[in-house]
Amino acid sequence: MSKEVWGYHEHPKRREPDWKVNPQTSAVREGLARSGFGETSEALYLNSGFTYTDSQEAVDSFIDETDHFVYGRFHNPTVAMFENRLAAIEGAEHCVATASGMSAMFASLACLVEAGDHIVASAAMFSSCHVVITEILPKWGVTYELVKANDKAAWEKALSKKVKAVFIETPSNPLLEIVDIRFVSDLAHKVGATVIVDNVMASPVLQKPLELGADVVMYSATKHIDGQGRVLAGAILGSFSYIYEKLVPFVRHTGPTLSAFNAWVLVKSLETMELRVTRMCENAQTIAEYLEGRKEIKSVQYPGLKSHPDYEVIRKQMKAGGTTIGIEFAGKKSDAFKFMDSLCVIDISNNLGDSKSLITHPASTTHRRLSPDVLAEMGITPSVIRLSVGLEHVDDLIKDIDQALNN
Ligand SMILES: *Cc1c(COP(=O)(O)O)cnc(C)c1O
Repeated sequence: MSKEVWGYHEHPKRREPDWKVNPQTSAVREGLARSGFGETSEALYLNSGFTYTDSQEAVDSFIDETDHFVYGRFHNPTVAMFENRLAAIEGAEHCVATASGMSAMFASLACLVEAGDHIVASAAMFSSCHVVITEILPKWGVTYELVKANDKAAWEKALSKKVKAVFIETPSNPLLEIVDIRFVSDLAHKVGATVIVDNVMASPVLQKPLELGADVVMYSATKHIDGQGRVLAGAILGSFSYIYEKLVPFVRHTGPTLSAFNAWVLVKSLETMELRVTRMCENAQTIAEYLEGRKEIKSVQYPGLKSHPDYEVIRKQMKAGGTTIGIEFAGKKSDAFKFMDSLCVIDISNNLGDSKSLITHPASTTHRRLSPDVLAEMGITPSVIRLSVGLEHVDDLIKDIDQALNN
């Protein structure tokens, strides 16, 4: 389909569809750049460099790099297949893949800002994103302000002055707070800010920030995109002008390149992502409803529950409640630990979006880097746990949770 990959082998007798195909079709077909061997599945190009037929071709390639792959830090055919496929699924003009979600997050902002610029971000954030905005960028003279996800008046105030970039994580990790992407994007654009959405928790299946007014979307592809616990990766998607004028010059010279092997794993993962995420959401919805009825649980945070304070916004911008549930125990940290240690199907792990159900104690692991004040503000108390629901049969997951609660 996409002929944007150089060296694309066009079968002389095959036509391209002359209609716009659905995302499910793109997920299996888009980006595929077959070599002259006509292989069925996407090939893995495990090479760092490329050769030229003569010295003039090398010169031409360096002047106009779109004609020929030049070097693995810039491009690779397998990485390009992953980028083109993800861009088609997202509905973005272009995509740049990176080595991890954090390199994607950092590059998405660092390519835009300079000393004296101001960033506004949602307060409830993945802890490393919080560190980038509140500790690393300020060392280079970039100031910031954090706003509570659903506090509309606070967003209006923060976005009434000059702002370079707005960074929002919705739903947030781990307590699934929601930012109204349309509302914040409209405000941000009035003051000329670029809106970047960390769409990791929703995945490309459930939420399309670009359609809701955002300018840039970033992923940790480690989560739902791989979704099978194998590789680290990230991706940044946006318009041609953002990607080519801001991002590409930054990433080419700083080198957060995704490995071809990891891209090859991911391009295949995209083929099953919608099926996986859809089933995981169904399981999570059933489990969240079950947990709401248990006396041991103080509160359940899940975007698919009517009890979520932002349920109306969620219905506008997400297709389903997601794969992750925030659970606060009616008790102490020791009760949460006792529950986790009693599980026999669900694993204790800090990852999420995986086919295996995983449980995490954020305050002592993923979010331990944050100060007690910041944790308290985010509601991450010592009795909060995060459950990432996988692809096991939902009856087995409920039985496991049930026996652990009764233990
Ligand atoms: C995991 C995660 C990241 C970072 O991704 P890595 O692939 O671990 O670098 C960023 N944002 C959110 C919301 C995440 O859950």
